[in-house]
Amino acid sequence: MTQLHDILKHNEAFVNDEKYASYKTTKFPDKKIVLLTCMDTRLTDLLPQAMNIHHGEAKVIKNAGATIDHRYGSVMRSILVAIYELGADEVFIVGHHGCGMSGLSSESVLSKAKDRGILNETISELSSDKNIDMQTWLSGFESVEENVKQSVEMVCEHPLLPQGTTVHGLVICPETGRLDVIVSGGESLQQPSI
Ligand SMILES: [Zn+2]
Repeated sequence: MTQLHDILKHNEAFVNDEKYASYKTTKFPDKKIVLLTCMDTRLTDLLPQAMNIHHGEAKVIKNAGATIDHRYGSVMRSILVAIYELGADEVFIVGHHGCGMSGLSSESVLSKAKDRGILNETISELSSDKNIDMQTWLSGFESVEENVKQSVEMVCEHPLLPQGTTVHGLVICPETGRLDVIVSGGESLQQPSI
């Protein structure tokens, strides 16, 4: 039994009762914020409340660990789209204490995958044929603070980041919502073109 049936039942009433009316906004973030944070369920409502970010005010990107794996991956692309196409000029990278990606090892994920029926050969083939570095791809980070710092650096040093973009790195407590600033207002390292 999946959740789909319940969701669709709720959805029909939601639309019919015009519950959407109070959520009317535009695709442009009112506070010109683009926020990268973790998919952790404890942050779903807590983080925007703790940061005073309301519906329509920020573009929010989420993944496991609030990580930017690749300079030209989908997270960095989302940040750039938020800046160039949607008017954001302030980037917040918000990791959190007690993150599932903290200390996560690829061995743990792969052993669970094997328990669920994924064959050893499949994993070996991915590593050899497709040249995927499983170790790196499925591993988390040692320190959330370091991870946030590295992500801020990656954004700041990106060749496509426009001047005048402010990049902050923070860590939030998933119980109290308290924010600790790791990097305040790092700006584009690019020099102005003459
Ligand atoms: Zn997390």
